[in-house]
Amino acid sequence: MTKRIAVGRLFHESHCYARPTTAESLTVVRGDKFIECARGNGTTLGGIVDALDERHDVELLPISDSMIAPSGPIDHGFYLEQRGFWEDQLKILEPDAVIIDLHGAMGTTELEDAEGDFLAHVRAIVGDDVVIGVGLDLHANITPAMLTAADICIACKHNPHDDYYDTGKYVVELVFEVLAGRLNPVYTLAKARMITPGKLETDLDPLKEMHARARALERSTSAIVDISLYNAYRFGDCTDMGQAAVLLSNKRYPQAEEIVLDFVREFWARREEFKDDLLTIEEALDAVVARSDGLPKALADLGDRTLAGAPGDSTLILQAAMNHTQPLRGALTVHDSETVAQAHSAGVGGSIAMQLGGKITPQYHPFAVEGVVKGLNVDDVKLFGPTFAGESAGMGATALIEIDKRFQVIVTSKPGFISDPNIFESHGVHVCDQDFVVVKSQFHFNRNFEGITTSLYIASPGLAYYLPGVFEKKRAHVWPDMDVSAEPIIAPQVFCRSAGAGRL
Ligand SMILES: [Zn+2]
Repeated sequence: MTKRIAVGRLFHESHCYARPTTAESLTVVRGDKFIECARGNGTTLGGIVDALDERHDVELLPISDSMIAPSGPIDHGFYLEQRGFWEDQLKILEPDAVIIDLHGAMGTTELEDAEGDFLAHVRAIVGDDVVIGVGLDLHANITPAMLTAADICIACKHNPHDDYYDTGKYVVELVFEVLAGRLNPVYTLAKARMITPGKLETDLDPLKEMHARARALERSTSAIVDISLYNAYRFGDCTDMGQAAVLLSNKRYPQAEEIVLDFVREFWARREEFKDDLLTIEEALDAVVARSDGLPKALADLGDRTLAGAPGDSTLILQAAMNHTQPLRGALTVHDSETVAQAHSAGVGGSIAMQLGGKITPQYHPFAVEGVVKGLNVDDVKLFGPTFAGESAGMGATALIEIDKRFQVIVTSKPGFISDPNIFESHGVHVCDQDFVVVKSQFHFNRNFEGITTSLYIASPGLAYYLPGVFEKKRAHVWPDMDVSAEPIIAPQVFCRSAGAGRL
């Protein structure tokens, strides 16, 4: 029998210490259009849509898509409008299941756990018999509210997230197992009250070892369906925040509590290992000059990472490169809508005196500099991927400005996903011609620049470089910002969705 499946996305990682994201920076696509865009792209939504397309027993019901680059908490009014639209559509459509791509670290100007609220409202509308499936980012702050409302709620397993697509497909598979009555989802959740300051790549230890153990446990018995390990978003500030382990079992699994406890105790025991080896801006530029492997360098500007919610308006690396003793060539982006407008008024070929960047992040200042407008763009730029392949770069209108005949500055109207070669190539700036390019990402750019550049990580000042004590936690109680040694572990909690799931 045909199953009617409602699909959509409301994806945002909300930086609690950045200024709120207002409605004009938020995007919504409704109807078949977003389904067309999602087909085959490298996101969880892409995996969901493709998996549903492959089935012959599905009527796909598109609801709404908001894919927003990380930034400050989203406008609460915008959120309420989206939630209301979903509620109205679900009432009309009466689907058999709802499958949603969410991040898991979304907050509004009034809510710390927007996904928990959203899923609770969806559940209230659809009732207990409709299956709700969710694919999350592993940087979610997973909450009891999410696990109470959703039947399927699992995270991707890789950072960089090259497995979003597979996660979407797996969510669909599991939703159909629940619909068929073969899967009675039970969740067991535990947390360690801590942030992981660094070493968040899943192909590096300690996470590599921990994920390998999780995969081995999943293979060891069909009763364990999934183990998701969450590295809570460092720039969030949520009650009961921490490193989480969530085991999804088919009915209650007797050892589940001991398993999740083992994982979070390991997070706590190995907390000092979660540290990055980073360079100063000067050290990184000296490494660019050395050009040891002949490849251009991708400089990860950690303080100003738009992929972690920073505004992307730093000019610090540009200024340091201009002052460097060697005549470097480089390309970078600066988020500054005023300068974009100035360049569009001047036109291609025009010389302009700018107050470039530094208008949003409190630690930065505008940089007075002159440049020549080389290109103007208002078209959408798609990312090459594989991370976020086919997704919009979300930069808004841009201008390419050349400074000192050596630096290609792409000025953007929105923060954007600055993690992909096509940010530059789409403006006619060839990455291979540069000594360096600046990316606003710590992890995801790596896959996208593989074989093109070598990565260097810079501990630059800004809103997205985590240092203990700098980002004051008002709700969260976490190491290393606080001493939590008296009670570092939040004890396991069990969540059963279906009536029969509690039976062993
Ligand atoms: Zn993430």
